[in-house]
Amino acid sequence: MELNLTQVSKTYPNGVKALDNINLNIKAGMFGLLGPNGAGKSTLMRTIATLQEPDAGKLFLEDINILKNKMKLRQVLGYLPQQFGVYSKMSAEKLLYYFADLKGIASASEKKKMVAYALEVTNLTEVKHKHVAGYSGGMKQRFGIAQLLLNNPKLIIVDEPTAGLDPAERHRFLNVLREIGTNNIVILSTHIVDDVKELCTDMAILNGGKILSKMSPTTAVQNL
Ligand code: ADP
Ligand code: ADP
Repeated sequence: MELNLTQVSKTYPNGVKALDNINLNIKAGMFGLLGPNGAGKSTLMRTIATLQEPDAGKLFLEDINILKNKMKLRQVLGYLPQQFGVYSKMSAEKLLYYFADLKGIASASEKKKMVAYALEVTNLTEVKHKHVAGYSGGMKQRFGIAQLLLNNPKLIIVDEPTAGLDPAERHRFLNVLREIGTNNIVILSTHIVDDVKELCTDMAILNGGKILSKMSPTTAVQNL
């Protein structure tokens, strides 16, 4: 499994060059995209997730030409946006069944299996009957991961997921990512150096829409 970005650029109508000739090769495992606010991280994450078009460039996941096969990409994508708000008074379990329906999982046994799996991996099984609206920030973020796991994604994108979490919740959340990052590509966008240091097998630093460096997380983080 490999994601390849070639010369990806995006300038917003106001003239802000959010992505400036991005070249990246991302393999299975945990990939950290580290950069300060305004670096272009969300723009890049939304572009890979097919929610936004670049002005130029090519994006391939294996043989899927992402810009030409949005639906094909979405079938293997799990995306947790930066502001994933869940205000539902439904229980987590009910809501996951609802998401499974939206994702087109037709078989009842498959649905049951995937909902149970998603709750288990994210450590929410014990609180599956509670209203998601009453969840803590960390539980909501883990619920965000649970919902994206339902279609068994191969490419998982999480945009600034640990912002605002307290240390204990942050650790619980990173452990969930570690669990799902073994066979899939997981891209973690963050401005928190420690997220990358603790978790990622590969990384890049983005600043002003440009990739500043590609190195191993241990080397990079020592230099920061
Ligand atoms: P981030 O925390 O990723 O930097 P922002 O606060 O920059 O997010 O952006 C929040 C939302 O506002 C996004 O949907 C983004 O596309 C939009 N946005 C950000 N900057 C501008 C801008 N200068 N003009 C218009 N929309 C913007
Ligand atoms: P990050 O996620 O690293 O904070 P963003 O991708 O949100 O970065 O933003 C990169 C730059 O593009 C910022 O300067 C931001 O203000 C600008 N920007 C983001 N979205 C928009 C938008 N919809 N319109 C105009 N400018 C935007």
